[in-house]
Amino acid sequence: QKRLLELLKGRENKTLDGKTIQLYANIGNSKDLAAVLQNDAGGIGLFRSEFIYLEREDFPTEEEQFQIYKTVVQTMAGKRVIIRTLDIGADKQCEYFHMDKEDNPAMGCRAIRICLTRPEIFKTQLRALFRASAFGKLAIMYPMITSVKEVRAVKQIVSEVKEELDRQGIEYNTPEQGIMIETPAAVMISDELAKEVDFFSIGTNDLTQYTLAIDRQNTKLEAFYDAHHPAVLKMIEMTIANAHKAGIWAGICGELGADTQLTKEFLAMGVDELSVSPAKILPVRKVILETDVEAYRRRKQE
Ligand code: PEP
Ligand code: MG
Repeated sequence: QKRLLELLKGRENKTLDGKTIQLYANIGNSKDLAAVLQNDAGGIGLFRSEFIYLEREDFPTEEEQFQIYKTVVQTMAGKRVIIRTLDIGADKQCEYFHMDKEDNPAMGCRAIRICLTRPEIFKTQLRALFRASAFGKLAIMYPMITSVKEVRAVKQIVSEVKEELDRQGIEYNTPEQGIMIETPAAVMISDELAKEVDFFSIGTNDLTQYTLAIDRQNTKLEAFYDAHHPAVLKMIEMTIANAHKAGIWAGICGELGADTQLTKEFLAMGVDELSVSPAKILPVRKVILETDVEAYRRRKQE
């Protein structure tokens, strides 16, 4: 099996009927880069930047972050690297943030909510990201979005950061900016959100948690947890359709994106990118190479 997968290295992710999709890797650490390259990823679809914060005793400086992001984009040598801004809170707590204790942290102050409440932390990360964008194909992605208002607030902070960099004569490129679709609210207004951003990446781990109202950490609820729940699949389909209507691309970076039982389904929905753990790249590629998307669609309609 492993030997057969090895043979798929270097192959394009092209279906039998000629549709190409991007197959990227999820990483949490620059140490994962070796696995990314070894498994022939087309890029990085989710760099969970919070691990930089979680590994430290105090806030990572702009310079520390810049060096990490720069290394990642340089190592990927022109391939797209999507870095997600800080997503702590809920299951990922960080002492030195001194967050108030919450009864329901999954629905509490997490991710973009922290960044918008404490813009000085957010700006340090954005400065590091924009600076690193001068060294490769970097894209920025914002987590846990629920409204257009939040996206506009992010844009405002981004424009302040860019003005500051301009004033200081610091170079940066124009990174693509996208959002994660991981709340039912974001799905339902994805037509509006699509007009504001360059891409969508669907976070099925949180999207499933918030749609089924099942704590993703609670193993006692496994009997109720249906990863293939039609509500979640319909939401993915709707998100992709709304992205395409607005002329932007949409991918999936949650665990479900690596589920080879669903690869054909996602291809039929027209997904543009799948970002999976490095070890899943070749197994997903195998299914893509074996799929005739049009024939699959026709069979479904019968
Ligand atoms: C998700 O929610 O699906 C996701 C990719 O983000 P994380 O698992 O880091 O919350
Ligand atoms: Mg998430």
